[in-house]
Amino acid sequence: MLTEEQSKEFLEAMKGLQEGQKLTAQALTKQLEAQYFQAKIMQRQIRRASAVARWYLAAASVAVVTLVSIAQPFMPKNQSAVEVPEGQISSPAFRYFQGETLKKGDSLGAYQVGDIVGMRTDPFNGEQRMHNGVDIRTPSGTALHAPGAITVACKEETGMGRYAEFTFNDRRILLGHLQSCVPGRANTGDTIAYSGNSGKRTTGAHLHFEVWQNDQPQQVTKSLAEAVVLNQQLPNLRINGGTYQGLSDEQNQVASAYVSKGREMEMSDREITIALMTGLQESGLKNLTHGDDWWFAKWGWGKSDSLGSLQQRDSWGSRECRLDPACAVELFYNAMKKVPNRDAMSLNDVAATIQRPAAQYRGHYAKHENKAREILSRY
Ligand SMILES: [Zn+2]
Repeated sequence: MLTEEQSKEFLEAMKGLQEGQKLTAQALTKQLEAQYFQAKIMQRQIRRASAVARWYLAAASVAVVTLVSIAQPFMPKNQSAVEVPEGQISSPAFRYFQGETLKKGDSLGAYQVGDIVGMRTDPFNGEQRMHNGVDIRTPSGTALHAPGAITVACKEETGMGRYAEFTFNDRRILLGHLQSCVPGRANTGDTIAYSGNSGKRTTGAHLHFEVWQNDQPQQVTKSLAEAVVLNQQLPNLRINGGTYQGLSDEQNQVASAYVSKGREMEMSDREITIALMTGLQESGLKNLTHGDDWWFAKWGWGKSDSLGSLQQRDSWGSRECRLDPACAVELFYNAMKKVPNRDAMSLNDVAATIQRPAAQYRGHYAKHENKAREILSRY
């Protein structure tokens, strides 16, 4: 039996134990709670971190897209680094609309230039009025000539009198106050009219010369006036050596070598066109002394052993030959002769078969066909 004293002690001890257990349980609960909150915080941090990561990812892709679009103009589009300017090559007549324009007081051969395009004091009522042409003081009966192949319409109007109208290089041209006019088709240099003094708005024999483009009156260039009034045409485009604007001297020399070598080897116009298309694509008809790899062109280093206007690699022939347009194109024509059935293939495919470019460039020759034809027609 326990004494009362002992029982009391025992109960105290039990109580103390219970208290201790209670405290332990509480401590455990607190610890669990703390871990729970810790976990919660970590979860939130992870979530926030992944949101940030997603944002970084999005920002990075935007940056990449932006950089690529900024870099695009400097990246190689294809193997050709040089482009012949579009439009300039469409017609040789464009040359008559470039260069110096006539000014009041200029001499055109024996004739003087009067008023040009612009506001002027009207000779009839003294008011400010737009003058849409250039006056050239030619005596009645001065022969006027076609500046190119044109079709002339002869018309009449109160103010301008008899006038000739024709389109030349997309410009509308009117020659006014004529004595007479020859309608119909005319070739370069043909007489299309005689200047005179017809119509009411003239104070003496002269040629009123209008050039319209997009419904705007243009000043008249010296070269066009010389062709029409003096029958002095611009130099023949077919000669070699850089008279054809839109192509540099170098490009002209390359093109002319392709054409003359082609004729010498009795290649057809179709086959010469293919050579020109290839040269336009590979080098822009320039005699490149290096490969036109983008890295090489930009930084002077790269892998390519391509050379010349046709960008022929070492296996094609000697360095000297590949850098001589006539020799290079002879290699090209010889390779072309080995393409069976080439007349049944598209021009692009013949070029691609000879050049064997990377797959993604195979179709890139076709876009030069019109330019190539145009250039060929000049020689
Ligand atoms: Zn006038």
